[in-house]
Amino acid sequence: MSKPIALLAYQNVDLEKQQVESNLRTTEARVRLNKLSKLLKTQQATLTKLADDLEVVAATAQKLNQQYQAAVKRLELESSELEILEGDEETTAEEMTEFRQDVEKLGKELGAIEKQLKQTYASLEQQVAEFQKTRQIGSKAKKEYDQLREVCTKEKEDAQKALNALDLEMTRLERDVDPRLMARYKRARMHHGTPVVPVRDAKCSGCNVGLPTLALSRLLGEGAVIECENCGRLLYIDRD
Ligand SMILES: [Zn+2]
Repeated sequence: MSKPIALLAYQNVDLEKQQVESNLRTTEARVRLNKLSKLLKTQQATLTKLADDLEVVAATAQKLNQQYQAAVKRLELESSELEILEGDEETTAEEMTEFRQDVEKLGKELGAIEKQLKQTYASLEQQVAEFQKTRQIGSKAKKEYDQLREVCTKEKEDAQKALNALDLEMTRLERDVDPRLMARYKRARMHHGTPVVPVRDAKCSGCNVGLPTLALSRLLGEGAVIECENCGRLLYIDRD
């Protein structure tokens, strides 16, 4: 009995390849890039919302401004009318009082609009400041993101060279493996990072389930490999 040497050699390179890929996904630059990518997405959503809010407040300010202008015009008109009435001898005291009350009322209305306008402008200013601050943070993050992206691209290129070399080696090693065995390996590989594992204490060392005696006896042949009925990994006896 002996190990399925060619298959294990193939798997070793496969594992090496997985390691290169996994390292690439977890480099400092890649991890930070992923974080920044999420941050930028959130920022973009915040900016969109802030811009929408701004639009609403700006529209309110514009409407109030129009109301204010209209009220000023009416007040001017009534004030000049008041002057005429005051100069007219036929104007009764009652008429004067009534008119003065109207003017007073209009003045109050104007004051109220002015107050609202002030509040609206204040909140507009605040929102503009928040928008600019958010955008500033965003553009800083974007700059870092772009730099990291370059680093990640370089890392990927380097890793790709290594991966290509490993692929070549795997192609070479595959020639030494029985095609039927390779097909079984590839099937098991879909579910397991390490598809070929040794038997330990009459158990599959992948899933730790014990093997029936019959299965164990089938492993006694030269380079014999069987499938674990529980997890589908390929099993061999680790003895030379
Ligand atoms: Zn198993």
